[in-house]
Amino acid sequence: MRQLPNFSESLKQLIASPSISSTQASWDQGNLDIIQLLATWFEQIGFAVDIQKVPETRNKYNLLAKLGSGEGGLLLAGHSDTVPFDENRWQSDPLKVVDKDDKFYGLGTCDMKGFFAFILQACKKLNATQLKKPLYILATADEETTMAGARFFAQQQLMKPDVAIIGEPTNLVPVVMHKGHMSHRITIQGQSGHSSKPSLGVNAIEIMYLVIGELIALKEKLINNYNNQAFDVTAPTLNLGAIKGGDNANRICGHCELDLDMRSLPGMTDAELINLLADALKPLAEKYPNRISFNELHPSSPSFEQKQPSDFVSLAEEISGHQCCAVNYATEAPYIQQLGCQTIVLGPGSINQAHQPNEFLAYSEIDKTNLILAEMINKYCL
Ligand SMILES: [Zn+2]
Repeated sequence: MRQLPNFSESLKQLIASPSISSTQASWDQGNLDIIQLLATWFEQIGFAVDIQKVPETRNKYNLLAKLGSGEGGLLLAGHSDTVPFDENRWQSDPLKVVDKDDKFYGLGTCDMKGFFAFILQACKKLNATQLKKPLYILATADEETTMAGARFFAQQQLMKPDVAIIGEPTNLVPVVMHKGHMSHRITIQGQSGHSSKPSLGVNAIEIMYLVIGELIALKEKLINNYNNQAFDVTAPTLNLGAIKGGDNANRICGHCELDLDMRSLPGMTDAELINLLADALKPLAEKYPNRISFNELHPSSPSFEQKQPSDFVSLAEEISGHQCCAVNYATEAPYIQQLGCQTIVLGPGSINQAHQPNEFLAYSEIDKTNLILAEMINKYCL
């Protein structure tokens, strides 16, 4: 007899298995416990389970589970990690599910451990022999920081499902588009010296002033030349986020740094944005040789678009009862799409609760999530 937890019991166990990702080492946790928990459950119901160590992470793992065989099929994907939490702002223990007011409270209930609890229930009664096409479950690592898990998974090209659903909290609205994100640091190497002798130095702040002028012109160029009406902010954005330089009023500033981020529209590549940035800085780089440089601060995440018309998107719209839409946050969708499958982001819970104290998953999402998973498995695997 299969001894599997029911929905709320599995949710409880998933939330109780902490898997925080943070760029700060003091917060960052491994995720092997939750990956093993998922592995145990999916193995019990007949899935073939593969756990992979993700390179260049602090001991993080992906899980891939597969039921059935053959080509194509359905991939249900999500991340196994959560963001850190601020205990003082939570009204309950973030690692203990509190079932109250028709909501399940806990860290990761909607973003997005809860999705795996739904998947488990949806898969419980399946039998490999019934499946015409394979059903895959993917749980990734480090989505909240570097997306290293999804990136690594996509590189390996282990499978090519027909379609994929990433169960991030979208309130069960199919998401077919989001912007990409990249961040850079511009560094100006000047020459410090006594402020009374300007000719003996090169002032990095003065060069940065000119650089900022070019960046603001680039920002306008992005607004004027690129547009996508599906987004509430319809153009790519460029934000000047942080600046540092110099040490004293009476010294010529020898070094200055500026951090910026750019959010691209679907259809724009990282290379295109980087070229725009390089072109904007080119005249100054020629005027001040070897003094201006820029480097990526974090790995970029690409923009995402599921092209339409698509039977898959239409079906998701029909079952969910919502028109598809574009969102402003980034997900693992562009990496999953690299497997060559039609991809949407569609899951229970609201992005408004994600990364917030007292995160919850409302009861009102349960029936429809169950329905969507059942119908999708039925359509693409049975
Ligand atoms: Zn998420």
